Amino acid sequence: MTQPFLLRLSVTSVLLLVAAATAAFGQIKPGRDPKQPIDEQYTRKIREYTTETFFNSPLTDYLPASPNVPTPKSVLGDVAGAPGKLPYSAEVYRYMRLLERASPRVKVFSIGTTEEGREMIAVAVASETLLAKLDENRARLAKLGDPRTIRMDEAEADRLVTASFPVYYITGTIHSPETGSPTALMELAYRLAVDESPYVKQIRDNVVTLITPVVEVDGRDRMVDVYNWHLANPGANWPSLVYWGHYVAHDNNRDAIGLSLKLTRNVLNTFTGWKAQVLHDLHESVPYLYDNTIGDGPYNAWVDPILTDEWQLVGWNNVSEMTKFGMPGVFAHGNFDTWSPGYLMFIAATHNGISRLYETFGNAGADTVERTLSADDYSRTWYRQNPPLPRAKWSQRNNNNYQQTGLLTSLHYFSNNTKLFLKNFYLKSKRSIDKPKNEGPAAYVFPADDPRPGGQADLLRLIQAQGCEVHRATAPFTVMVKAKKNGAKKETPSPAPSASPTPSSSPSPAASPTPTPKTEQRQFPAGSYIVRMDQPYSRIADALLDHQYWAPNDPQQDVYDDTGWTLGELGNVQVVRVTDVKTLTVPMERITSEVRAPGAINGNGSVYLINHTADNTLATLRYRLKEVAMEAAEEPFEAAGRKFNRGSLIIRKASANELQRAATELGVQIHAVEAAPIVKTHAIGAPRVALMHTWMDTQDEGWWRLALDQMKIPFSYISTQDVAKDSDLRSKYDVIIFAPVGRGTEAIINGMPMWGNALPWKTTTLTPNLGKIDSTDDMRPGLGYSGLMNLQKFTREGGLFIGTMDTAELAVSTGFTPGLSITRSTRLKAIGAVLRSKVVDDKSPIAYGYPEAVSIYCFNGPIFGVSNFASGRGGRPRREQRATGRGTTDDPDTVQGRVPVEAPELPTAEAWEAYPVLPEQRRNGINIIPVEFRPRVIFRYADSKDLLVSGLLDGGDEIAQRPMIVDVPTGKGHVVLFSNNPMWRGQTKGSYSFVLNAILNFDNLNAGRKLEEK
Ligand SMILES: [Zn+2]
Repeated sequence: MTQPFLLRLSVTSVLLLVAAATAAFGQIKPGRDPKQPIDEQYTRKIREYTTETFFNSPLTDYLPASPNVPTPKSVLGDVAGAPGKLPYSAEVYRYMRLLERASPRVKVFSIGTTEEGREMIAVAVASETLLAKLDENRARLAKLGDPRTIRMDEAEADRLVTASFPVYYITGTIHSPETGSPTALMELAYRLAVDESPYVKQIRDNVVTLITPVVEVDGRDRMVDVYNWHLANPGANWPSLVYWGHYVAHDNNRDAIGLSLKLTRNVLNTFTGWKAQVLHDLHESVPYLYDNTIGDGPYNAWVDPILTDEWQLVGWNNVSEMTKFGMPGVFAHGNFDTWSPGYLMFIAATHNGISRLYETFGNAGADTVERTLSADDYSRTWYRQNPPLPRAKWSQRNNNNYQQTGLLTSLHYFSNNTKLFLKNFYLKSKRSIDKPKNEGPAAYVFPADDPRPGGQADLLRLIQAQGCEVHRATAPFTVMVKAKKNGAKKETPSPAPSASPTPSSSPSPAASPTPTPKTEQRQFPAGSYIVRMDQPYSRIADALLDHQYWAPNDPQQDVYDDTGWTLGELGNVQVVRVTDVKTLTVPMERITSEVRAPGAINGNGSVYLINHTADNTLATLRYRLKEVAMEAAEEPFEAAGRKFNRGSLIIRKASANELQRAATELGVQIHAVEAAPIVKTHAIGAPRVALMHTWMDTQDEGWWRLALDQMKIPFSYISTQDVAKDSDLRSKYDVIIFAPVGRGTEAIINGMPMWGNALPWKTTTLTPNLGKIDSTDDMRPGLGYSGLMNLQKFTREGGLFIGTMDTAELAVSTGFTPGLSITRSTRLKAIGAVLRSKVVDDKSPIAYGYPEAVSIYCFNGPIFGVSNFASGRGGRPRREQRATGRGTTDDPDTVQGRVPVEAPELPTAEAWEAYPVLPEQRRNGINIIPVEFRPRVIFRYADSKDLLVSGLLDGGDEIAQRPMIVDVPTGKGHVVLFSNNPMWRGQTKGSYSFVLNAILNFDNLNAGRKLEEK
């Protein structure tokens, strides 16, 4: 009975606090303290570089002077946002460290390094008193963030809230061509440290502002190079920033799911390590300040409604305050849907904080230029009552004014409501722990007998990296799970669910309107992993492991990003969502280190066998033991009392020690036997792989490069220009991979237009950070027709070319693949969805180790069709429709005065098959492809009704049953094309082995192929 009383008390006290704060807020006017001198020269420059007075605010139209704290000018040589000034990361850091030395209100922390070894930092700014108490404050925030530590004691939580102050984390320039935030954040740090105005002082005294001024450090330094090149070559076109980060460009802001990039991990660890309440990420692509914190629907379905209310509170307050300053173009809402948890800011949303994002207006550099907007941008609408101007002179200083003004009003609002937001932080954390008894589920279970322990461990490590606890069952256990659609499978040794099942009881007051799904008992073996949902960061695990559904008729038709990401499905890992709260009481222990798949050599003998289960570590092992001869079994076999899949590795001679070490480190189970099994095999080498890129876009291939690097598969990195010049590719490479480009065939072949000046991408004294990854004197030339010819020659001479999505289209449309065609879709909408695929030819090495059905990532195809004719299309007759004549619709017509003749029955073919060649067509078979060169379909899309696994799918019948992976023999080599993207954002690890299988078996892809005429 005491609890409701306490609850009421605390709500009342919070309300009182809010009321008090609001009263205080009314008294503090934004603007300078007249008693504090200003830096006259700096202030004059701010006003000079601001193109209209209304592009500034009382918060940023002056700079307070300090006798001992240096302004950004000390490093920049001019004011923040000055034309022509874009500092390198090192200069930004130098300034932040100058601030730290000069002011007791600034502390700089190193938070890790990038892929290229550059440092990332976080700068804390607050009053001396607050900074002195950082550690004790963090300890209090940690308790609020994990209410289990205070036994969910509401009164204790209130005491902690009263004693604590919040952390507001701001991150700048994750997108390298969006260049303004480093200087804005340098100046913001200065203001927060020295400004004695009551408005800023209140922020400093009540909130720790934490700033990472440059998130994408590698890309920042390259962008500054490009800008400096532009300054040194006035009037010339400048090279576009083809490499932002080391691997990916714009997609570095889609990595909060897969955590593949160091910047994501560093920001995540900083956010969770500091127990911050807000993560506010700065972008620059919309005029003049779009606060897409609020965004549009659909909202991510796994975040707490307390958070979505906070978005409204914080976001609309921001718009309201800046509207009062008379700054045009400040708005919220917009059309950004808030569905995907992949954005950097969403680290906060899924970890009990508040995610925020600004789009301000940048000029991609520091030039002051006239900007003309499109009507979409300057039109007035309900959420944008003071829109941007159709045309205005725009400067980086304007951008810096908007960024800082927005941030200062936000920080001030936060400083007025610290107790409210800290209490919400506690409540969100508590409700995350309460998940099993409210919305559920209770846990996700990863069965110990998953055939892919490597993939399983990989996914569990990701869940751990997200900050979640992982447990392991110490004994077998049986709980109720959702019943399989078509009755229980055999693998579930379950008694019929006749005994009354333990209800997945919900203490929620109202009965759910949706019918409770049927349940059945399922036993999990000892050693199964359990991700409990009664932990503070349960929401991120739930969001990543659950299934998504985006209704085709959702009001939001402008989908912003991927709609499905279910990681168990995409990882080819078994993950069972369990609502039965009994799961939480089974004997288990917490895993205290990173989950690793156990590896060992079992048994005795000098022949070693490794079962192929499409675990990616198999290829890593192959390349690691490059000198060791290995063979792949072309049929399943039994040995040492176990079943081995097709594709399993047989090693007849190897150092046991070396093998043992590799097995342990990689988590591979190796079985030693006395004699090799009698089975047909072929040799598996360590093929020489090249990854080919264009000079237009490296975004999507970056994920492939990253995946190969992670798996330690060595490769040469070559450009389309290299291929254009090299007519002997086969002597250097066995496999050439061409990952998606995001451009059409024409652009890939022609490159960029050749008028204008050359666009160099190379290391020079002016551009010390360009080149490196790859370099060229001129980015413009493309693959060219010579490149196409060289690639075709490469495959005819025994090489393997791998194409995906648009590069598959390139191969099809330029004649690499007789018999393969692409159908234009008219209705298909598979927007970054998880779809189901089915095996067609399990004897192909590309299918080795895979089960019959595999979930894959698809973004609208392409839709493949196969034929036995070189033209690609021939052969499939139109469905016979009856002609006008006698009888009902299904009657035959009858010619009068003649005995009726029946038309011969035509053969049939499935959507993934080529239509058989008809006798009439054989009479002069110029276009008939010889059987050995016909496209071989390895996997296809599932039937329409089974196609959708997760996300948005509309018009799915267009791609249902169509070929997904096709292997086309050409000369001595092969072209293997994917309609799905098997290497995407570090999220599709279950599909990697399709590519790895093709690579490892490049010279034996015809294994298991049936050649009978059909
Ligand atoms: Zn951006």
